[in-house]
Amino acid sequence: MLEGRFGPVTQSVDAIKSLLIHMGKAISPLPSDVSLDNGRLVLILSNKKDAYYTCTSRACSCPGNQFTHNCKHQRALFPQNPTKPATVETGSIRPTGKWPGGMNGPVDECQSQSRGMA
Ligand SMILES: [Zn+2]
Repeated sequence: MLEGRFGPVTQSVDAIKSLLIHMGKAISPLPSDVSLDNGRLVLILSNKKDAYYTCTSRACSCPGNQFTHNCKHQRALFPQNPTKPATVETGSIRPTGKWPGGMNGPVDECQSQSRGMA
């Protein structure tokens, strides 16, 4: 209902007040953001507090998004293309071998002799 023909539509504060009342939520103070549809749609109070922008993973009705199509709201709420990989290496740094390349030393010549004695 909040997504118009051409994408999200900025909502008036009065409309969101009605929505919040309908949802049984407090309207004073006005929430800075209202998550709907399991977080897939978020209403964001404008800086001037005179309207709510409708932000989804695909689009946002805020003025900034009209230029960038990837506004700060979308980057914060729906980080689709993080610049850094999400996985972080954990644990200690464990070298694969004592020598560069993962080798355990100059074992080429005596490998057949020492093998099996360890
Ligand atoms: Zn936005």
